[in-house]
Amino acid sequence: MEIFEPEDSRSTLFAEILLPVPIPKLFTYRVPAKLNDHVRTGQRAIVQFGDRKVLTGLIYNVHETPPKDYEAKYILEVLDEFPSVTDVQLKFFQWMADYYMCTMGEVMNAALPAGLKLSSESMVQLHPAFSLEESEHAFSEKEQMLLKRLQHDTLTYSEIAKFLGVKYIYSILKSLTGKNAIVLFEEVKEKYKPRTEKRIRLTAEMNKEEALEELFKTLSSKPKQESVVLKYLQEVPVLHDHANNKTGITKKDLLTDDISESSLHTLIKNNVFEEFEIVVPRFGFEEAHEVPVVLLSEEQQRAQGEIFKSFEQHNITLLHGITGSGKTEIYINLIKKALESDAQVLYLLPEIALTTQIVQRLKKVFGPAMGVYHSKFSDNERVEVWNGVLSGKLKFVTGVRSSVFLPFDNLGLIIIDEEHDASYKQQEPAPRYHARDAALVMAQLHHAKVLLGSATPAVETYYHAEQNKYGLVRLDKRFGDAQLPEIVLADMGEERKRKTIKGEFSGLLLKNIGEALSLKEQVIIFQNRRGYSPMVNCEDCGWVPKCVNCAVSLTYHQFRNAMVCHYCGYREALKSNCPVCTSTRITTVGYGTEKLEEELKLHFPDASVQRMDLDTTRSKTGYDSIIEQFETGQTQVLVGTQMVTKGLDFDKVSLVGVFNADRMMHFPDFRSYERAYQLITQVSGRAGRRDKKGKVVIQTSSPEHPVLTHILHHHYQEFYRREVDDRKQHSYPPFSRLIEITVKHIDKKACRDAAVMLAEQLRTHLQGVRILGPGEPMISKIRNQFLMSVLIKIPRGKSDLVQIKTIIQQHIDQVLKEKIFRNARIICDVDPV
Ligand code: ADP
Ligand code: ZN
Ligand code: ZN
Repeated sequence: MEIFEPEDSRSTLFAEILLPVPIPKLFTYRVPAKLNDHVRTGQRAIVQFGDRKVLTGLIYNVHETPPKDYEAKYILEVLDEFPSVTDVQLKFFQWMADYYMCTMGEVMNAALPAGLKLSSESMVQLHPAFSLEESEHAFSEKEQMLLKRLQHDTLTYSEIAKFLGVKYIYSILKSLTGKNAIVLFEEVKEKYKPRTEKRIRLTAEMNKEEALEELFKTLSSKPKQESVVLKYLQEVPVLHDHANNKTGITKKDLLTDDISESSLHTLIKNNVFEEFEIVVPRFGFEEAHEVPVVLLSEEQQRAQGEIFKSFEQHNITLLHGITGSGKTEIYINLIKKALESDAQVLYLLPEIALTTQIVQRLKKVFGPAMGVYHSKFSDNERVEVWNGVLSGKLKFVTGVRSSVFLPFDNLGLIIIDEEHDASYKQQEPAPRYHARDAALVMAQLHHAKVLLGSATPAVETYYHAEQNKYGLVRLDKRFGDAQLPEIVLADMGEERKRKTIKGEFSGLLLKNIGEALSLKEQVIIFQNRRGYSPMVNCEDCGWVPKCVNCAVSLTYHQFRNAMVCHYCGYREALKSNCPVCTSTRITTVGYGTEKLEEELKLHFPDASVQRMDLDTTRSKTGYDSIIEQFETGQTQVLVGTQMVTKGLDFDKVSLVGVFNADRMMHFPDFRSYERAYQLITQVSGRAGRRDKKGKVVIQTSSPEHPVLTHILHHHYQEFYRREVDDRKQHSYPPFSRLIEITVKHIDKKACRDAAVMLAEQLRTHLQGVRILGPGEPMISKIRNQFLMSVLIKIPRGKSDLVQIKTIIQQHIDQVLKEKIFRNARIICDVDPV
């Protein structure tokens, strides 16, 4: 029975709740008195938001001050006994919202796996004591309609709105509740479901020596049933062993080929065995298996020693090690050491590089002690890793970008592998954060060490290392006797003159592919563009099919026989006649992975060729099976986009062909040289590991280009020097910070006007920064929204970043307040990549 205390003997508590909405404030709710002793910061709470929505939020703090200008609603429910989010995380959320100019709600939305955010639907049912005939109240037509329907059903808000054909039903519901006709209640569904498994065990009565003896007597004439019981006793040490009786055995383990399921069922029916369910973790927490210890080479040991030494002075250290130098083994060693000292470890990998390969390698060493956090995993799996970290059971997580949000409480080491990789940056939606930079802040909050690793460090990172802000350790030799590949250029201008080009392939590359295949070696072909052709055109009038929603030409995909927009997914069939001049001379221009695959099959009809790009890897297993077939040698030539450049380690690849280096280098962006250097060097690194020197052929029309010269000679430092001088001269990062503001509007003029107004205001109010634009970005319309952008260059070190961001936000708010710009969206991207 509940004991009632007089209300006034308790203090009234209020909680500030962080809700997953893009409104930059916290919301105050009243704590029901019975929860006074239970509410804590970081717990999830369910609250009513607005008239109809019910949301899951986080309790941010608790106090006794009621809100001044409105009456606080009650918290409906508190979902956690213990906080789901730690104080450190809340601090981290706050930092991220401030730095990346978004709301805490948006950060929270990105941080929590969907399984921890409840879906709720408010339900409506007829009041049990209500009868339409006997009620003394009058009802409107709509009310009567609804009441009749509710005699048979319980409905959600949205079902009612649909049924009545009106948008706002709150007034109707309010009227009906007032007349005691209906009741409202919240049905909350927890999305996360633990995984359960059916198991078999002896019933309690049977789990005794005497009972078993009796049983065997009765079973002596039933050999099949007898063998089931015998098998069980072999597998599960019973009798007094209570713990084992709790886990029992799975059906699969109990039933062998000669034991049939029907015997088991008879035994269950006869109360010998019983079926029961247990909750099994998706990731076990047992001990890791013993694996042969890898001994570090002398070079690796030196590097490791230097890393430890560097950590004494620098919390952040860069390991600049060429491809194949054995960085991963060093990471493994460092992780082991950190775990031994009982600290938690986060190993960050870029999205695509989180290949089965590296995870398998780590799984072998760490077994189930390692959690994997990846967007391709189901939500339940993500919740399990989250809770594993929260409870402290899971000390080590390997994960992508979003794992910086995990609830660590004792993080000792973060390793950021391939730190230069652009996929660490989230583009859409907010928070547009860079996981490397966010991890550095996380590390600071935890006093953890950070090791950044790359063969081709980001210019910014190398600059900080050069300035002694980060420690720097090098690994300049490949592991074992492996050598760096020989890189040669196929001069396309020259080959064109000599007419040695066939289709898209240079004579040089074709010759090398032929040789490699005849030696039963494997080949990787890299072309950073998917589809068949990036453009279709009419040879007579020059017509080019464009997307109806975006300002881009459509890419032709042969396997779909369609032209597709890579920005919005719009698709249409390839036309046989030009819609402008009716000519039939419709051709494709340029080439993507699909076309290269087709040409390769023509040139080498006996070779097995496979393609790896977004189109062939959409399914959860698509990627894995392509990798596996290449690993086992079933595939000889792998054609792919940048997916093939990252972190793959294959034994028999002796040749890598690089297409379209020119397009990468001449892309109009200040990072294009860096990107080209990184991509080409990374893909080259796939050639010739272990005992054979590999070869790389780069097709180019500008063989004299300095970036190519640096790549050819593996001269990172020289490349960096040139690049950093250039950045300094033009005041690009690391010598400035950039904020890119994009205005979006379905009306072109409104878009431009809003951008002009914003840029003008910022020019008047922001001192000491450069404001470029507004201008049209390279793609000026996406999904029917016109885009204009303004770029802000903030000199590093001199300006007050917080103040600048505040001013920018104020002026954005002001522009959006103008009636004509009401439907505009304005997006800030801090440190865009
Ligand atoms: P990186 O990550 O620097 O590209 P890896 O760590 O993948 O290089 O090492 C390259 C290859 O050398 C891998 O096949 C790895 O198994 C092997 N290797 C590296 N270090 C050792 C070691 N100490 N003992 C045995 N093999 C090693
Ligand atoms: Zn035409
Ligand atoms: Zn489109």
